[in-house]
Amino acid sequence: MAKQSQRRGRLGEFKGTIGQRERFKSERHDVYQEQKKWPEPTRCPTCGAAFMDGRWTWETAPPSAQEVECPACRRIADAYPAGFVEIAGTFFEAHREELIGLIRNAAALEKGEHPLERLMAIERDEDAEAPLTLVTTTGVHLARRIGDALARAYEGDLTIQYGDAEHQVRVHWARDAD
Ligand SMILES: [Zn+2]
Repeated sequence: MAKQSQRRGRLGEFKGTIGQRERFKSERHDVYQEQKKWPEPTRCPTCGAAFMDGRWTWETAPPSAQEVECPACRRIADAYPAGFVEIAGTFFEAHREELIGLIRNAAALEKGEHPLERLMAIERDEDAEAPLTLVTTTGVHLARRIGDALARAYEGDLTIQYGDAEHQVRVHWARDAD
């Protein structure tokens, strides 16, 4: 099993749509203010997450809370992921339901622990020459967790590249069917 973790200031040849690629390279993460300290309590009107004790949680905010959309809901509304998981090779298509189940399970666990870590989409890249599925997430930790879960369950080749001061991550996992 080849397993490597690369840390680079810039991302390599990310294969998304051109729009995704340009936005991925940009410095727009500041807009999402994941590190910002909001007045407490603050509640997200979209998902119900609450900012309390210095972090976003799933605890119920009191009725007096101010309402501000959380960074994860803003990323979903803007279709602007923080995490990209590219799944290459023929193994995914051969075991599609099983792997999607594993991805959704990892996402549910991560979201339960960290409200800003959400699964955005699982999409087949129809433009790619070889089989390629792109999983997008609102947080870098979930993308990494999905990559780790795939590699742990099915081996294959895992590469992780951080970009933009670790506000974005590109995870690449590849395996061909036996
Ligand atoms: Zn929200």
